[in-house]
Amino acid sequence: METTSVDVLVVGGGATGAAAAYDLARRGVRVLLVDQNDLTTGTSGRYHGLLHSGGRYVITDFDTAVECITENLILRRIAPFAIEDTGGLFVATSQDPDDFPARWVAACARAGIATEALTPEQARALEPALTRDITAVYRVPDASCDSFDLNHGFITAARTYGGDAWIYQRVTGFLTDGDAVVGAELEDTRTGERRRVHAACVLNATGPWAGVVAGLVGLDVKIRLDRGSMVAMNIRWVNTIVNRLRPPSDGDILVPVGTVCVLGTTSIRTEDPADTHVDVSEVSTLLREADVVVPGIRQGRALRAWAGVRPLYEPPAELAQLESGHNVSRRFAVIDHTERDGLRGLVTVVGGKLTTCRLMAEQAVDVVCRQLGISARCTTADEPLPVPETSPRHYHQLTHRVHRLEHGEMPGALICECEVVTRPQLEARIAAYGDQPVALDDLRRDLRLGMGPCQAGFCGYRAAGILHAAKGLSPGDATRALGAFVGERFRGVRPLLYGHQLRQLYLDELIYRRTLGLDTLLTLDQPQPEGVSDAGSEA
Ligand SMILES: Cc1cc2nc3c(=O)[nH]c(=O)nc-3n(C[C@H](O)[C@H](O)[C@H](O)COP(=O)(O)OP(=O)(O)OC[C@H]3O[C@@H](n4cnc5c(N)ncnc54)[C@H](O)[C@@H]3O)c2cc1C
Repeated sequence: METTSVDVLVVGGGATGAAAAYDLARRGVRVLLVDQNDLTTGTSGRYHGLLHSGGRYVITDFDTAVECITENLILRRIAPFAIEDTGGLFVATSQDPDDFPARWVAACARAGIATEALTPEQARALEPALTRDITAVYRVPDASCDSFDLNHGFITAARTYGGDAWIYQRVTGFLTDGDAVVGAELEDTRTGERRRVHAACVLNATGPWAGVVAGLVGLDVKIRLDRGSMVAMNIRWVNTIVNRLRPPSDGDILVPVGTVCVLGTTSIRTEDPADTHVDVSEVSTLLREADVVVPGIRQGRALRAWAGVRPLYEPPAELAQLESGHNVSRRFAVIDHTERDGLRGLVTVVGGKLTTCRLMAEQAVDVVCRQLGISARCTTADEPLPVPETSPRHYHQLTHRVHRLEHGEMPGALICECEVVTRPQLEARIAAYGDQPVALDDLRRDLRLGMGPCQAGFCGYRAAGILHAAKGLSPGDATRALGAFVGERFRGVRPLLYGHQLRQLYLDELIYRRTLGLDTLLTLDQPQPEGVSDAGSEA
């Protein structure tokens, strides 16, 4: 069995793990990060896209609000390529509690979150789609953040300092020596190949899986798992983040991300870290609540729905009884298992927000370094990250790509018309994976392939042909790659079977199932999930 030795093994390639790998590498530690899938495929790739100002938490979770505004300002400085400075609005309507805005403004002032009162007319001049029923509105320093780009930034930077990251490597067990963890056993989730990594310390940064991973060595880490769903509308209904000015609840926020506007979120307790099911009733709630602040939005075209699982650190007993995950603290915990369980060489970091990932990493790495007797301090807030290869020079907007296309900077055939992805771009990304297998979904995360209105209806089969040629895949493997990609795209459309997207899915089904004979795909012949017609009639 192949064996590798490093100082620290980071398990988990979400925002927390990636930021930790960068932090360790900067402190001169030999670090390897592993993830069971591609980077950013856990909660960090399934989040709402909001770089919080802290305004959302300032009444219910003050310390988290302070962490958010502090880290918001740092991430803007170190990762501008991943952040679009949309600004944010908090909007109260006649449906919301009267006394909330005054309390909220006072709490923002205490937390150091800048607020600017606008008149309803000023707010509508900024965002013409806003409701006329505005009782109070404030501007805050929210922004939208592309987590794929942010994570690639952390990993690119970690590599420049000598660190490394391996994807599709699952930790299946720990290596122990007496009362110490001394490494982990890995399994390649694509080939089944097994290997060992020896490490003086392992950092468990597996988000919603943190309890499962700690359980591999018999430890009990309680995580409250809270599933939240989101819906992407096909255009940017707003260019500013719009939050409801009320106590946190379902369907409070609209986030313009790239080419779309994401409505979210819900909060449903789950027991499964991989539970990404979207209930049709959640779609109805999100459309109904968004329509209060942006009237007419529920008649718009919804592209796709998806869900992620919040890894909330299990709070004290009385809080664990709370019905809604909206009320559970977003604070994070760093667990030194030497102190808590008498097991050296293992540290767990869990909870928090994507916005606070750098701070979570800093505090977790401080504990790791203490265990290893390393005194180097954290410097990740000091310098900008290098712009990752997968990222454009600036935050992704479709107009940037169209501009480059029109000015001859993106030659070659257009493969994905919705997101403007060309054949040479696809070929370059495939080549960047070298000998490693590459899935069409990996290329989606890198280039936004198949993320537009047709949800891979037209680009899927073209990209599969290019992958087939570039990697010398057998026809069977290329067909399976296509089936997996398009099937996953269709899964996100399935809770939205009404209006334009229903028509689109019929067309895509004609292309893939009836014409190309891909029977592995989700078909419209299958029974509809309960409540589908409700979402349609509401919209
Ligand atoms: C619906 C929703 C909306 C949200 N919106 C926002 C928002 O707008 N702004 C914000 O700041 N935060 C938001 N959050 C919170 C934020 O997304 C999370 O706090 C953050 O992404 C957690 O990152 P992480 O790295 O800790 O976990 P993850 O991103 O889940 O990373 C954990 C990784 O560990 C890997 N892993 C698990 N087990 C193993 C194993 N055995 N071996 C190897 N790898 C393994 C997984 O594959 C995964 O990639 C939202 C969360 C949800 C659910």
